Parts: sequence; structure tokens; C-alpha cells
Amino acid sequence: MPSAFTLDDWLDREDAWLAPGALRNRDSRGRRHAEPAHEYRSPFQRDRERIVYSSSFRRMTGKTQVLVASVNDHHRTRLTHTLEVAQIARTVARRLRLNEDLTEAIALAHDIGHPPFGHAGEEALNECLRAFGGFNHNLYGLRRVDELEERYPEFPGLNLTFELREAFVRHSGILNGREGDEFRDIGGPPLEAQVVDVVDSIAYDTHDIDDALGLGFVTFDELHEIEFWRRAAETVRRVHPGLRGPAFRGAVLRELLAWQVTDLLNETARRIGASRVESADDVRRSEVPLVGFGAETLAWKQGLERFLRERVYRHHRVLQMTASGKRILKSLFDEYTLFPELLPEKHLRRWAGAATLAGRGSQTPLPNRALVAELPRVVGDYLAGMTDRFAQREYRRLFQPTMDV
Ligand code: MG
Repeated sequence: MPSAFTLDDWLDREDAWLAPGALRNRDSRGRRHAEPAHEYRSPFQRDRERIVYSSSFRRMTGKTQVLVASVNDHHRTRLTHTLEVAQIARTVARRLRLNEDLTEAIALAHDIGHPPFGHAGEEALNECLRAFGGFNHNLYGLRRVDELEERYPEFPGLNLTFELREAFVRHSGILNGREGDEFRDIGGPPLEAQVVDVVDSIAYDTHDIDDALGLGFVTFDELHEIEFWRRAAETVRRVHPGLRGPAFRGAVLRELLAWQVTDLLNETARRIGASRVESADDVRRSEVPLVGFGAETLAWKQGLERFLRERVYRHHRVLQMTASGKRILKSLFDEYTLFPELLPEKHLRRWAGAATLAGRGSQTPLPNRALVAELPRVVGDYLAGMTDRFAQREYRRLFQPTMDV
């Protein structure tokens, strides 16, 4: 292998290439369970790959972003949303000389804790688990990567780096809970996590308009009410005056996306320059976010988001899907907490009262103590891990047994 390199060569290259405020692999606070370094893959690269190999990642194929995943095959699912976030975030990271591997890993992981049926699913689980600390998809994401993923014999979960785990807790906005203990006193988030946070909104603001048009929930005329759309459409018409239909839609969406990314790059470069940060630690000490949009673009995005909230997220077809999703999760939750013997053994085993297993003559050993939880939490974790389709099927199995066994 003529041009083989060692991990140290790569890390030296990072030192030479990355911006002063970027978070280098060498800056990482490491993993919960110590592991030997890989010969040539960096820690953040390994994080990214572990996420892609995880079952939580694959299940995002079947999870709602805004529209229930099975409604048709064209709109975004949680997984395709995630891939869009990851590729935009990489563009931003590369342009600003931030750590691309870390940025991409955080982006690929950012939604893996989402339950089925999108925000409606989260609301349903939060209501079911109110007496047990509620449900938050970010904290659930952390529990998945710390405990629930089973893949490596050496450690529970994926044993991700501190920086990946931190991103879940920060995104939850709940730093005062038990999960926040490790992260509370280290200052603000690194630039790479800030990029993913902001790029998430670039992706969904743009693709939710695309999906709403695709499904006929809104028309070009209605979109004309949005100043941001109008400006992007005018730019497209100047260059391609005769453009109509899907080609026009695609061109305007590309313009909207490009506008947001360029503005984000310009404003962030300006803020980083003015802040004079010289290290990732300086970034943590900064009292204001360094990644963000200029005031004008921010206002245009807010107008677009208002439209999405009123016309798309509250469209009766969307509300019908989410109402039925909520009903499915609540019914499953009630049924499983009332009759825990209906749970698959793997999940029943996690319950502190797993003695029920003995009645089945099971030889399965009890799980390690960290995994033992109270029944409602065990049921909540099981439900949150489901895809839309799986939850729908379980519902039919339990309540309409003749339809689908
Ligand atoms: Mg997202």
C-alpha cells in the first residue's frame, strides 16, 4: 500500500487544516468505556460509522418526519431528512474548516431518538410517561446509544465519544436533569454541533415545502404569500422566465436552500472572525452562538415557518395521520402496562419485575442492572423504538386479531 497513512498522520492533517475554533479528534474528551485507538480511523469517524450500523439508524427509514412514512414513497422520512441534514452540514463544515467527521456524525445521529409518528408520537409518549419523567426524543436518543443498542460485546450501546453524547443532551434543552450532569459545566456547544442544529432548520424548512407541494397540500399561488418564496421565485424567473411545474418547483427550492446556506456561511464567518476564538475551548466560553443567520434571512425563515405551521403541519390530512398515530401509541402503552406478558421477552427482561419471565419457564438471564427499569419506562422505550408500520401492525395484532396475526 504505497500511500497508507497512520492515525497520527490524519490527526496532524486535521491540526494543519482545521480552523482554530474547530473541534479536533485530539480535543475529544473520549468514551465512557476506554477503547484502544484504531490504526487509521479517527474517533469521530468511528462514531459516524457506528451510528450508520445501528438499528436505530436503519429504523429511521420507517419513521415519520412530518408525514406518516407509509403514506407514499416520495416524501421525506426521518432517514432521508437526516441524510439531507448531513450533506448540508458537511458543506458548511468544510467551507468553514470545521471537523467534517464530527459534524456528519452529529447530523446522522440527531434524530435517531424520534419515536414513530413524529412529534405527535413524542407528545403521546410524553403524556403516557408523565409520572415517570416524561419523554424527550433527544434523551431517548442518548439512552439508545448508551444502553439500548446491542452490537458490541465489549460495552453496552455504541460507546460514542463525549461530544456525540453531549449533542443529544444539549439538543434536549434539559441540562438540569440527571443526563445533564456530565455536560452542565463545560460551557456552550462546539461549532460542529451548532452547525447541525441550524442546518436542521434549513433542511426541514425547504423540504417540508417541497413535500407539501408534492402531496397537493399547498399550491404555488399560496406559497406566493411567503416573502422568502417570492424572492426565490423572482430570482428563478429572471434566469428561466418560461419555467413551469416540477422544474420551477425544483429550481425555487434549490434557490431557497442555496440562499440559506450562503447566508449561514457568511454570517457565521463574520461572527467567528469578530469573536477571535482561537480554540474549541474558546468556542465553549463564547456567550453567544457563533453559528447563525443574518437578521434578514432569519426574518424570512420565520415567515416561511409560520406558513408551514399554519398550512402544512396543521393540514387536516396531517392532523388525521398524527391523531391516529397518537391513538395507536396510547392504546399500545395501556395494553402493555396492563398485560406485560404481551411484551416480547427481550423487553420484558428489562423490567424490574421480570419475575413474570419465570412463569414462562424462561432461562434468559436478567439484564445488567443499568438496564432494569420500571414497567412504564420499559414499555415507553419499546414503543419509541418502533417504526410507524411496526406500531400500526402491533396495534392490529392486539386489537383486531383476525386482520393480521
Ligand atoms: Mg431533524
